[in-house]
Amino acid sequence: MVPPFSYLRARSLDEALRYLSQEGARAHAGGTDLLGCLRERIFEVTTVVSIAGLKELRGIAATPSGGLRIGSLTTIAEIARHPVIQSKYRALSMAANEVASPQLRNQGTIGGNLCQKPRCWYYRGEFHCLRKGGDQCYAVEGENAYHCILGGENCFIVHPSDTAPALVALQASVSIAGPNGRRTVAVEDFHMSPADDYTRETVLEPAEIVTEIVLPPPAPGLQSSYRKVRARRSWDFALAGVALAVVFNGNRADDCRVVLSGAAPVPWRSAEAEKVVRGRQLNRDRAAQAAEAALENADPMEQNAYKIPLFRNLIEQQLMAIG
Ligand SMILES: Cc1cc2nc3c(=O)[nH]c(=O)nc-3n(C[C@H](O)[C@H](O)[C@H](O)COP(=O)(O)OP(=O)(O)OC[C@H]3O[C@@H](n4cnc5c(N)ncnc54)[C@H](O)[C@@H]3O)c2cc1C
Repeated sequence: MVPPFSYLRARSLDEALRYLSQEGARAHAGGTDLLGCLRERIFEVTTVVSIAGLKELRGIAATPSGGLRIGSLTTIAEIARHPVIQSKYRALSMAANEVASPQLRNQGTIGGNLCQKPRCWYYRGEFHCLRKGGDQCYAVEGENAYHCILGGENCFIVHPSDTAPALVALQASVSIAGPNGRRTVAVEDFHMSPADDYTRETVLEPAEIVTEIVLPPPAPGLQSSYRKVRARRSWDFALAGVALAVVFNGNRADDCRVVLSGAAPVPWRSAEAEKVVRGRQLNRDRAAQAAEAALENADPMEQNAYKIPLFRNLIEQQLMAIG
């Protein structure tokens, strides 16, 4: 049963920030993750603050510099079907199409998708794990088939969002409003690794809200993609996924960003793979070398070494498909 809480509907951003400044308050956008967290008692709340009525946080519009601004309350479905995102920021529309089910894409927002809690069954279950204030990560000795192979330290979750790796590849940033004003953070720096703080998933401070996501103008020659592998064909989180953003100059890849999902506690940018590709022609050998390089620091747990060949093949295939 969900414990009792107060429910407040904010009528303006200032009002939302004021309500959220109360101890134990949480923002409610589409509610698809929040309500599950409350039911599963992952965290306690005293007050749920609906931000769903804030019109200024909705919609997709061009920026003066030729980029795109996406309000944080824009649904995943709107993003998936938006023609400019489909043509200029393909990785993002592909990723949005891979999120959950049509019903969840209609209800869930991009802000909520970036801020959702991880899906580790110990964290979501009745275990008082490290991330919930306990003293151990149960995945270390337990069932760890779906846990991370890169970037794990203390806690071994995988980051759950499909849109986040695409946004990192596309060099997007998030605008944040809080009681102390506004700030902008690259999506790449928005999620927190357990090595920095295993009790937090993002750099958001209490009472801060993501107001929008900003995509820079696409560089000439930019091609991007996202592909996700899951355990079953209906809705499911990524076992392995890769977002690519490659800037081509003829056959040469002048720039390349490779970002993995299902691999690490944060969207995982593979500097090793990018280095192999950047400034060179993208052919089969190069794609295979980049895929190999991406996994060279992988440190699998007892049950998830299968992810290494899975990622290797996925990265190689996707680099060949984009080249
Ligand atoms: C069955 C199921 C399957 C799913 N499968 C996938 C999947 O395959 N891929 C994937 O990427 N996701 C998946 N999800 C997650 C889903 O996409 C997210 O639940 C959804 O995008 C969250 O959006 P929301 O608006 O409903 O967020 P809410 O549930 O309202 O909020 C989620 C969290 O973010 C915080 N929050 C929300 N908006 C903001 C904001 N603007 N600023 C600051 N904090 C905010 C809330 O306080 C809360 O902690 C799945 C979810 C479910 C329930």
